[in-house]
Amino acid sequence: MYDHRRLGRELDLFDTDPLIGAGLPYWLPDGATVRHTLEEYIRGAERRAGYRHVYSPVLGKRELYEISGHWSHYSDDMFPPMDLGGEQVVLRPSLCPHHAVIYRSRAHSYRELPLRMAELGGMYRSELSGVLGGLTRVRAIQLNDAHIFCTLDQVADEARAALEMIRRAYRALGIEASRHRLSLPGPGGKYVAAPEKWSRATALLRDVLDRSGLPYEAAEGEAAFYGPKIDIQVTDAAGRESTLSTVQVDFHQPERFDLHYIGADGARHRPVMIHRSIIGSVERAVAHLIERHGGAFPAWLAPTQVVVLPITEAEWPGAEEVARRCADLGLRVEIAGPERGSLGARIREARLVPYQAVLGAREAAADHVALRLRDGRRLDARPADDVLARIAALVAAHAGELWAEKDAEG
Ligand SMILES: [Zn+2]
Repeated sequence: MYDHRRLGRELDLFDTDPLIGAGLPYWLPDGATVRHTLEEYIRGAERRAGYRHVYSPVLGKRELYEISGHWSHYSDDMFPPMDLGGEQVVLRPSLCPHHAVIYRSRAHSYRELPLRMAELGGMYRSELSGVLGGLTRVRAIQLNDAHIFCTLDQVADEARAALEMIRRAYRALGIEASRHRLSLPGPGGKYVAAPEKWSRATALLRDVLDRSGLPYEAAEGEAAFYGPKIDIQVTDAAGRESTLSTVQVDFHQPERFDLHYIGADGARHRPVMIHRSIIGSVERAVAHLIERHGGAFPAWLAPTQVVVLPITEAEWPGAEEVARRCADLGLRVEIAGPERGSLGARIREARLVPYQAVLGAREAAADHVALRLRDGRRLDARPADDVLARIAALVAAHAGELWAEKDAEG
């Protein structure tokens, strides 16, 4: 595997500047393309799974976090509050309190549950400057987050569905979980005290894991301060493990924010809150993808998906036409002409681009392209429209393979 910090700079994906500050990376156009595409994939998967998206501000009053419990359990990781006209405002350490308040702002009937609220939103962590680096330890985080407000009876199905979304996303992204972990409270940690709620939430998650057939290990001291969680762990280039995805069951925040719904009996009931994240923070997910693939992202995620290679100047008009058709199909395309060196040199330069469309005099005359795949496979020249439509279909399907084996020749 690779070091994402080095590759991130070499491939012009992201960088940092001391004037902006440590732990505050910025995204260059190619990195921003990867991030945007990843975020859109997540939003699409969430829409299909019945989530509705919201936006909420990255700031909140100190009181909000006093109610949620972050202030008393998590303030070491929070930025100091800002004084604003006699009020204290803080950069949020999580999205949960905002979502609880959004839920509370409208009356809800049992018929609306499970109510799935999602957001890709900013949050902040006051990491010490000594531990900052690349995209894995940052102070400004874009979190893929969602909260499911549901009845106790619905918790298991919702947690299972979240695990299934995570499994599918990993397949599309070409990444693998190193293990599943049931994260429990441990001695000495700062946890909210409610033994009965902890054991009920733990039993629910344990049951979901047992029924899933996934091997897992329980780990003490890794829970959130408000409840236990299922963590999906990945391993980085140096062999260090970190948490990418989580599913958490929370009885605490619904009570702190006095959330309720009207049941079939006409009475008020307390919902359960499931916190779940498919890819965790966008920063950590992209760091892992860079290391996992060495910059050769799955085709649907690649900054440039097709490079058109006219062999000589004479094929320029044909190359422009192929590029235009790619763009019309929504593909990210670039032309690398003979002014950039020999064909071999241009192919080497484009080694991370999944599809390399070579255009010589014969291909240009017949409106064909000879396709080379990033993995070294070469396909015979065939009609340009067929090739481009096939690429577009593979990209739209978030396919892991560059080409279906039966179609590849040579
Ligand atoms: Zn949450």
